[in-house]
Amino acid sequence: MKSMYAKYSGKCRVCGGRIYKGDAILWSRGEGARHLSCDPEVDCDFEAQEARRERNRMDSEYAAGVADAQRYLDEKKIYGEALADEFALQDEFNRYWKLGEDY
Ligand SMILES: [Zn+2]
Repeated sequence: MKSMYAKYSGKCRVCGGRIYKGDAILWSRGEGARHLSCDPEVDCDFEAQEARRERNRMDSEYAAGVADAQRYLDEKKIYGEALADEFALQDEFNRYWKLGEDY
């Protein structure tokens, strides 16, 4: 593999994305061209990509859960436990029906 600037536009064999004339690429006669930034170990590993997406999704669900819990505690401090419980229930109720709309 030789690093060079693309003389022609073409397609990256790792990510499938476009290579523009003048892009920094790696090239070899047998394998063709790929972006300099494209790491074949990472980008060709679809399972790793899927796992990464899943992890991101879990993280955001976790963050949402933490935010909910924090808001519950705040509301409990301000309105008292009974009202906070009611708000939390209302939240869940709303979310349930919002989810329902999608189906
Ligand atoms: Zn690429």
